[in-house]
Amino acid sequence: MQREIQIYNTLSRTKERFEPLNPPFVGLYVCGPTVYGDAHLGHARPAITFDLVFRYLSHLGYKVRYVRNITDVGHLENDADEGEDKIARKARLEQLEPMEVVQYFTDRYHLNMAQLNVKSPSIEPRASGHIIEQIEMVREILKAGMGYEVNGSVYFDVEAYNRGHRYGKLSGRVLDDLLANTRALEGQDEKRNPFDFALWKKAQPEHIMRWPSPWSEGFPGWHLECSAMSNRYLGDLFDIHGGGMDLLFPHHEAEIAQSCTVHGKDPVKYWMHNNMITIEGQKMGKSLGNFITLNEFFNGAHVRLEKAFSPMTIRFFILQAHYRSTLDFSNEALMAAEKGLERLMAGRKVLEQLKPGSESTFDVAGLQAKCYAAMDDDFNSPIAIAHLFDAVRIINSIKDGKGSLTATDLHGLREWVESFVVDILGLKEEVGGSESSLMSDVVGLLIRLRAEAKARKDFQTADEIRDELGKVGIVLKDTRDGVEWQISGKDI
Ligand code: ZN
Repeated sequence: MQREIQIYNTLSRTKERFEPLNPPFVGLYVCGPTVYGDAHLGHARPAITFDLVFRYLSHLGYKVRYVRNITDVGHLENDADEGEDKIARKARLEQLEPMEVVQYFTDRYHLNMAQLNVKSPSIEPRASGHIIEQIEMVREILKAGMGYEVNGSVYFDVEAYNRGHRYGKLSGRVLDDLLANTRALEGQDEKRNPFDFALWKKAQPEHIMRWPSPWSEGFPGWHLECSAMSNRYLGDLFDIHGGGMDLLFPHHEAEIAQSCTVHGKDPVKYWMHNNMITIEGQKMGKSLGNFITLNEFFNGAHVRLEKAFSPMTIRFFILQAHYRSTLDFSNEALMAAEKGLERLMAGRKVLEQLKPGSESTFDVAGLQAKCYAAMDDDFNSPIAIAHLFDAVRIINSIKDGKGSLTATDLHGLREWVESFVVDILGLKEEVGGSESSLMSDVVGLLIRLRAEAKARKDFQTADEIRDELGKVGIVLKDTRDGVEWQISGKDI
């Protein structure tokens, strides 16, 4: 715990020495998913990034209270506080109660996270379970003169706030630029300024998710939930707030404004943001046909994939880039990651078998120190992994009779490699091994052939592939998000 860790703080735009507010305790809050669809790479990256932070700090002896929320209400279709609630929309399309949608996709999210070996957070609060706290915050913001009510909805008054604070300090945006660059208000908009954001929205008659409040029957604004829940579980000021870079503005900027107004101080000491993911150089999007869910990666059932990729391959691939770098997914890059992971895990197995020698011809302690130093330097997992590959080279040299390690150094090497691979990077041996991945590859191939047949309107071949797979006990299911497959009624 005495190690000096540097964290890049988005707020100060510089690396800062990590000094917890109340050691050995560390408060960590990360914005979780809005549960209206299957998780994709955009969910995997922040989950794995902050799992790494959680694991490393815990490994060093810190007592981390990790809060990652579930957004189950209030996230509208666009950031301008307009459009339908994302979960309500899905519920309407599927003719379900919104909480059925939430339960279904929360369960699937948890399954994906377990597959990726992402640890459960200490607390996983839901926005809909904290309506009282959110209403209380709206009340406080109104009392402070930083909000206004229009027709039962309440908005945050950014201009009023900006007189005493700097709205935009996290994202680097300047209010005057925002003013100049935003379109003029449309007539029906209730906001005084386009950059004001909703704290409470009055529910339209068709809107199912609604709660009573002093202003109207309605629902909280999306930004409010994180302010309310982080405060509830971590207090007025906590150590680390994380999330994807796409949340920097307006979501996190709004969180700061809300919390500053109510508690009179900045809520967070270190803001951390992971960078974005692209697919073969393109932004990921449903309309671009490159929207690949984690389940599709795991079973290979997407036309853009040449094969299935295991959860550990995805995890290793994400960890092979620093969290602040952009990350581009391609079949080639994933195959390279798969090979690298195999090499690392094979080295671990060889290490178990090595016998000590009378002298050490390698500097294991020096390498271990470099590995820790990489993690101390803003959680630089790619450098740490590079040092682990150096260790694999040493292991293979000793196996080949080119060098040796004393019993003490061999023990040190085993402890270091195990704690990094298993505890810190969270990599594990995948059960089923090559046989089940071969199975995934073959089914994935057939699913892609079927999709290609469908695309050229060869429905006979498409149906034949489905029927023949059915005969051997593999059931294909066409869903809105793609094709899923199961063996005799069992989820893969
Ligand atoms: Zn959030």
